Amino acid sequence: QNDLFKKLVAHCKEYGFIFQSSEIYDGLAAVYDYGPYGVQLKNNLKDYWWRSMVQMHDNIVGIDASIFMHPKTWKASGHVDAFNDPLIDNKDSKRRFRADVLIEDYMAKIEDKIDKELAKARKRFGESFDEAMYRETNPRVAGYVEQHNAVRDRLAKAMTDGDLEGLKALIEELEIADPDTGSRNWTDVRQFNLMFSTQLGNIAGEEGKLYLRPETAQGIFVNFLNVHKTTRQKVPFGIAQIGKAFRNEIVARQFIFRMREFEQMEMQFFIKPGEQQKWYEYWKEARMKWHLALGTPADQLRFHDHDNLAHYADAAVDIQFNFPFGFKELEGIHSRTDFDLGNHQELSGKKLQYFDPATKENYVPYVVETSIGADRMFLAAMSNALQEETVVGANGKESTREVLKLHPAIAPIKCAILPLKRNDERLVNMATDIFNDLRLSFDVQYDDTGSIGKLYRRQDAIGTPFCVTVDFEALDDNTVTLRDRDTLSQERVPIGQLEQIIRERVDM
Ligand code: ATP
Repeated sequence: QNDLFKKLVAHCKEYGFIFQSSEIYDGLAAVYDYGPYGVQLKNNLKDYWWRSMVQMHDNIVGIDASIFMHPKTWKASGHVDAFNDPLIDNKDSKRRFRADVLIEDYMAKIEDKIDKELAKARKRFGESFDEAMYRETNPRVAGYVEQHNAVRDRLAKAMTDGDLEGLKALIEELEIADPDTGSRNWTDVRQFNLMFSTQLGNIAGEEGKLYLRPETAQGIFVNFLNVHKTTRQKVPFGIAQIGKAFRNEIVARQFIFRMREFEQMEMQFFIKPGEQQKWYEYWKEARMKWHLALGTPADQLRFHDHDNLAHYADAAVDIQFNFPFGFKELEGIHSRTDFDLGNHQELSGKKLQYFDPATKENYVPYVVETSIGADRMFLAAMSNALQEETVVGANGKESTREVLKLHPAIAPIKCAILPLKRNDERLVNMATDIFNDLRLSFDVQYDDTGSIGKLYRRQDAIGTPFCVTVDFEALDDNTVTLRDRDTLSQERVPIGQLEQIIRERVDM
């Protein structure tokens, strides 16, 4: 698993998908830049999301709100007071940690021990091994399980209660040390607000303090009336947005899974109070279907109900994806009640209500939201797609290829056009003509910088679903070879039909 993750990170860099930000200065932690193929893939994912939300729903419209918002926004949303993680510093190494993550890492070590014991026993007992029974009856394993569960319960309670001293006590009791230096010289645990702040140009001090938005949702809530009035939408209706969000995450690891600057794709669906259960179920199912339609295998996705509800929610579920480091949140579906609109109404003094023409009543709508990180989706798509395969060449020899089996709709390049010989003017001219024709419809690439075998491998590695090879036969009969990335099949097709064939495959 770990090797797979390393391979993925290396692949992203080697093929121009993702670079560390400011790499020439040794990088900036948890901040990344998307390279030429990365930006194409990410744009395609965002486009797929936008079309499925806005284009395919009569009652969902889009906006693009600013990153900067009036500071009162974050008071109303609860982010000033409650958007915190428990922070602890190591006094010796001067490094900062999330207290809860230190404890989670400790639990992960116990889980590793349990896994090792189970693996040993499985080897020993073979077919007849009963894991559940062994967990309960083997004294060593049962002891680990008990210890693990006790820590888990205490951590959950301390987090729910906001008990910072309890977290500190747990860290001391478990003798948790700085993973790099082994030092156990800790400060107290304190709340750390995850919002980045900056300063308005013309106002000094606290008054001029601004935040970089930690979520895109609030730009939608404060525009509820504007959008409702100008589009004449009736409840239920939704507002969708894609944009950057910023969180000063304490833990910076796992590549683009947890970044300090990232992109969200959020949709707030405004509904009649009392109908939240129905719409919550609706969006749960709709969002799962979206993932499956992209080709993500069902067994790599699962729902995970929240144990601790966020301050704004009356129901919340995550869609988790099986990342190379395990099942983790990819998307959240939250029933936010009238928490946000209600608070904005109170703090702004503006009525944020909807007049129901059927019942002649005014009410503050409830909200069910779907919220997914574009970068996490990118990581999920890449983890799914990257495969190493053994292939048999025309000469009968076996070789391995790295191939990105991305859904054709999101592949950065849809088709590569490759002349069989780069020093034959007729082949090059014909390939260039095909390229210039197809580029009007798709992202395509012309390449004549190597042998055909090498060019195929390169296209495999960036996930190009089709390669067109222009060979000598093409000069006689105007047909070319169309190679399929996944099946490796090669069929001869008339040049005039290429556009239609490719379109059928890359359209969702
Ligand atoms: P986590 O528990 O992983 O920190 P969260 O519950 O705080 O995530 P939400 O506030 O629900 O996340 O944000 C919605 C979505 O935004 C998440 O499902 C995730 O895809 C994305 N997201 C949140 N934080 C980050 C981040 N630091 N880097 C990249 N994507 C993020």
